[in-house]
Amino acid sequence: MSTNTKKLLVAGNWKMNNSLDEAVSLIQNINSTIDSNPDVLQKADFLICPSYVHLAPVAQIVDGGSVTLGAQDCSFDDNGAHTGDVSVQMLKDLGCEMVIVGHSERRHNCGEGSDVVAQKAMKAHKDGLIAIICVGETLEQRESGNAFSVVLEQLEVSIPKSATVENMVIAYEPVWAIGTGKVASSEDVKVMHETIAHYLKEKLDMGGAIRILYGGSVKPENANDLSCIEHVDGFLIGGASLKADSFVGIAQNI
Ligand code: PEP
Repeated sequence: MSTNTKKLLVAGNWKMNNSLDEAVSLIQNINSTIDSNPDVLQKADFLICPSYVHLAPVAQIVDGGSVTLGAQDCSFDDNGAHTGDVSVQMLKDLGCEMVIVGHSERRHNCGEGSDVVAQKAMKAHKDGLIAIICVGETLEQRESGNAFSVVLEQLEVSIPKSATVENMVIAYEPVWAIGTGKVASSEDVKVMHETIAHYLKEKLDMGGAIRILYGGSVKPENANDLSCIEHVDGFLIGGASLKADSFVGIAQNI
């Protein structure tokens, strides 16, 4: 999947959910829902990121269809003594085209800083995967007036020198909006996405062409309003990506 298009990207992060049977039937249902509503493909590209252990069986069903396969994370190294880690090359072997790095759950649960995120994104770029680099402030950081400085610093450190228009997507996900049902206001999303787009343009000469996703309690009911905001080029979706109707419904409602 190319990133230098402004078609919306609807990306599902399945996180640590689904049994094997559930993962298989979810992708089958997503495929059949898209097949019955082919107009959604004019509006959006679809990406799903199952857990590592479900990538291979899901890849067989994704193969040749309209959904792209991605992973939720990757190692910062090529190989070696990294128990439990999975390299970018391993993900590529399974058919992944994209990988999420720096999700707030990894930043907060696993103590990953932006420097590690940059190393992971660099590995993704080296082996030809598109890195979705996640940034976003906590509620405390927003309430203390630091949302912009936090996000700008995360961008500054997380984006490696290897980043190009072709190999990077940014996902802005306010931590307090993830899985909580609280969506950032249109004005907050607008101003933050403008700030990120401006940063990419000024600092990296990459404005305009890079997709900037919004993530945080996106569902079919709020997708249209969010998609009308300038510089919102798609969504990173957790909860609503676990049902074919709501996942594809996000694109249908745009
Ligand atoms: C996410 O995990 O990135 C996310 C945005 O989750 P949810 O859609 O459930 O808020």
